[in-house]
Amino acid sequence: MNIAYYLKYRPQSLDDLVGQEAVKKTLLDQFQNNKLSHAYLFVGPRGTGKTSTARILAKMINCELVNRQSLIVNRKEKNDKRYSINDIPCNKCEICQSITDGSNLDLIEIDAASNRGIEDIRSLRDKIKLAPTNSQKKVYIIDEVHMLTPEAFNALLKTLEEPPKHALFILATTEIAKVPQTILSRVQRLDFKLATVNELLEVLEKIVKQEKINIDEQALKFLVKKSDGSFRDGIKLLDQISSITGKITAKSLEEVLRITQFDDLLLLIKNFSEKNSTQSLLNITKQLEHGADIKELMLSLMGILRDLVFVKHGLGQELVKPQFTEDKYEELTKVSGNFSNQEIIGILDILQKALEKLKFASILSLPLELAVVEICNDNSKFKIQNSKLEEQPKIAKEIAKEIESAVPRTTENGNVDILKIKEKWTFVLETIRPYNFSLEALLRSINITECRESTVYIEVPYSFHQRILEAPKNRELLEGVLSDILGRGIQVATILGSRPQRKEDVANVEVAQDDEIIRAAAEIFNSDTVN
Ligand SMILES: [Zn+2]
Repeated sequence: MNIAYYLKYRPQSLDDLVGQEAVKKTLLDQFQNNKLSHAYLFVGPRGTGKTSTARILAKMINCELVNRQSLIVNRKEKNDKRYSINDIPCNKCEICQSITDGSNLDLIEIDAASNRGIEDIRSLRDKIKLAPTNSQKKVYIIDEVHMLTPEAFNALLKTLEEPPKHALFILATTEIAKVPQTILSRVQRLDFKLATVNELLEVLEKIVKQEKINIDEQALKFLVKKSDGSFRDGIKLLDQISSITGKITAKSLEEVLRITQFDDLLLLIKNFSEKNSTQSLLNITKQLEHGADIKELMLSLMGILRDLVFVKHGLGQELVKPQFTEDKYEELTKVSGNFSNQEIIGILDILQKALEKLKFASILSLPLELAVVEICNDNSKFKIQNSKLEEQPKIAKEIAKEIESAVPRTTENGNVDILKIKEKWTFVLETIRPYNFSLEALLRSINITECRESTVYIEVPYSFHQRILEAPKNRELLEGVLSDILGRGIQVATILGSRPQRKEDVANVEVAQDDEIIRAAAEIFNSDTVN
């Protein structure tokens, strides 16, 4: 398999790093004069080289060349054999290489977006006292640091106040306004800027040359424009189109990007009709990984759904067909058969609301992801409006009540088991996190109510939590971990817990469900305790 370009062409030294001259100069000066700070905060938009620079800095201070040559000198003459500052990092020694391939034990990278709780920072604090394994310094990179909870920030602050000599902290953020003042006063801030057109061209041209991609200048400029100042996006886009055979022109490029996106989006709409939330979420993740812009993705998706509305109203030939090739149009009309008019309008409505929430989202993909879960949920609003069903949550609650009365009260042993599980909850979360981040986040807001011989009862506040927990893969994962803890085969049963009562007319159901999504989101991403 080919290595993704953005990994393959990741800058490995300050020399490699295009742009960010001010940052480079500061770091180089401080390094040369042995005046590096113990904590940095890298601030700047995504894809501007913050993490790459952090890794380069980690290499610079730990590179074996620095150890061998106690004094790094400025090379004055050409035949001066001593090492110069420009030779650091060497990218050849064992330490440099282990940082490149991600196996270095003294470089700890934490993504605060998924490890944002106090437990994570506490465990970091405990581990930090230990000396580095085989490097001079332990380097902690905490990415998206603004995502930490207030408690975690406090714990981090204590560490920054009394940092051990053998540690270097590099915090990175895209949202400086969300980083507390107390943290700001203890770090040195360095600002990363969006790439200029010329800088982006320089980077992309280098890759085009190395990979022998047949692309004309116009097309390359089109890519630069699409990447909006982000090196990462630009490189990902180039990666995406690198397999095209023949000369790539701006026109063919635009067409290719549009068609791949159309196919992906149509597939997503098919997933909607099958109520397949897992595939839908995967589809979105894949598109984002390949460099799609979230807002553009939502708008294009809504564009296709709008086309479906036209098709449904018999306006397809007139308004939709001219934009597509024969076979694409045929696919489109086929998919339109999977939905009723009301359903498409309901989906559009949900997406429109998600689009409005985009401005305030701290995780950009979250509004779309929640919208997709809602669309794939059988109970979702547009279904209810459509079929004028009884209020669904009420039915779910009845069932929950039935289960409750059928289950005997927890025995003493059961209580011991619950304690056991709660004690090991951090372990449960840590085990699940690498497999499924959203499941882990969800598990932070559940309540274990009962423990019986072979069943653990879990109470969740919302029906879509229940759905996620009951998806076979998620169940299997959780049941596996719980079985390990209790030392016997465990099944998980989920119960819908109580939440504020709402009136039962249809209009209010809408309000309730809207509210539910917002509150659920707040809960998943703001809570780090198990009730
Ligand atoms: Zn080295």
